[in-house]
Parts: sequence; C-alpha cells; structure tokens
Amino acid sequence: SEAGKKAKQAIEAACKALLDAKAELTELDRVTGDGDLGTSMERAAKAVLAAVESYPVDDVPATLIALGHTLRRELGGSSGPLYGVLFLRCGSVLEGSGITEMERWAEALDQGCQAISELGGAKPGDRTMVDALEPFVRKLKTGVGGKVRDAVLAAVEAAERGVEATSKMKPRLGRSSYIGDRVLGYPDPGAKAIAVWLRAASESIL
Ligand code: ADP
Ligand code: MG
Ligand code: MG
Repeated sequence: SEAGKKAKQAIEAACKALLDAKAELTELDRVTGDGDLGTSMERAAKAVLAAVESYPVDDVPATLIALGHTLRRELGGSSGPLYGVLFLRCGSVLEGSGITEMERWAEALDQGCQAISELGGAKPGDRTMVDALEPFVRKLKTGVGGKVRDAVLAAVEAAERGVEATSKMKPRLGRSSYIGDRVLGYPDPGAKAIAVWLRAASESIL
C-alpha cells in the first residue's frame, strides 16, 4: 500500500541519517556523556534496516510496535528503553485509527513523548531528548488542520531549535548530570539524534 511504502521509506531514511550522523553524535556524547551514542545508534540503525523487511509495513501501528521492540533490544544505553517505550506507546495509540490524520499522529507522538517522561523522569528543560521531541509535538499540534507539509516542516524546525536550546540547559538526568556545567555550550546528543531522524523521516514522506 501507499502508506506501507511511506512507512518503510521513512524508517530507512531515519536510519541512514543516523548512520551519517555517527561521528557528530559520538563527539557530542564524548563531551557530554560517555561517547557511545554514535555507536549505539549505528548498531540500532543497522538492526532496523535489516529488520524492516520483516515489519508489517502495511499496518503502520504494528510496524511502530515492531520498531520499538527492535530498538529496545538493539539500541542499548539509556536510549534503548526510552526509544522502546516511545515507539511502543506511539504504535498502540495509533492502532485502529486512520494513519493519514495528522491529529492522530500528533496525539500518538505526544503520548510517546509522555511515555519517555514516565520511564525516565525527564521534563522539558532537563537537557534530554525530550527537549527535541516535545517542541516537535507541540508545533505539530498547532499545525493540525492546515497543510501537512507546512506543519511537519515547522515541527522539524521547532525540534532543531529545541536541540540548540539544550546547549544552555543544565543537565539534571543521565550521565551529563555527573559532568555538570562542563557540558554547557554543547547541545544534548540525545536531543540531536531525535532531530536528525525526525528531519530525515519527515522529508522522506513529504
Ligand atoms: P548512556 O550512554 O548515558 O547510557 P545514551 O548514550 O544511550 O546513554 O543516550 C544519552 C542520551 O539519552 C542523552 O543525551 C539524553 O538525551 C538521553 N537521556 C538520558 N537520560 C534520560 C532520561 N532520564 N530521560 C530522557 N532522556 C534521557
Ligand atoms: Mg552515552
Ligand atoms: Mg553508555
């Protein structure tokens, strides 16, 4: 189906963008954490690119759930369980709904973002991946009812501004919190990774 093709395209584009961003994510996580995020994302992206052939892409909610399971198993670190709950929650919220409705997507991503906060305790402003995902969701919600392309691109830009904003945030969670003020001036690597795949996935389907 058309939706199935788009889902596969978006997943593949997201994985390729993360592979291309490996050096940058490694460097950011080296300065603000333990340096493994580039390698973790590479391992996960390769696993997803191999697994996508077996995902039920015509069933988008089931595909998101399958993606969540691959990431939960393969990604590792703090990111692994957080990405796991993101896509598992997203898929279950989207289940049984028309996947072309932007409102449903915004709601599913919103709840996915909330699942990350429930699991990891992060709020906006804590300098985590939430600081890229939450602005994306918020902007997408304001675009509901308008042109899909405009809404999605505006949301991607909001995520990217969110990444920039993390450079000035004090780390309250995860390894960056052990490093403290020395991370200031550098964006959060997990937030950067979110913006990388959000842009790639969005552009691939617009
Ligand atoms: P680590 O190597 O520290 O286990 P990763 O390298 O996989 O973790 O991921 C680091 C990123 O995870 C951080 O940049 C941050 O965005 C995100 N992160 C860490 N802890 C949390 C949390 N509790 N909630 C949300 N995101 C978090
Ligand atoms: Mg790390
Ligand atoms: Mg680690």
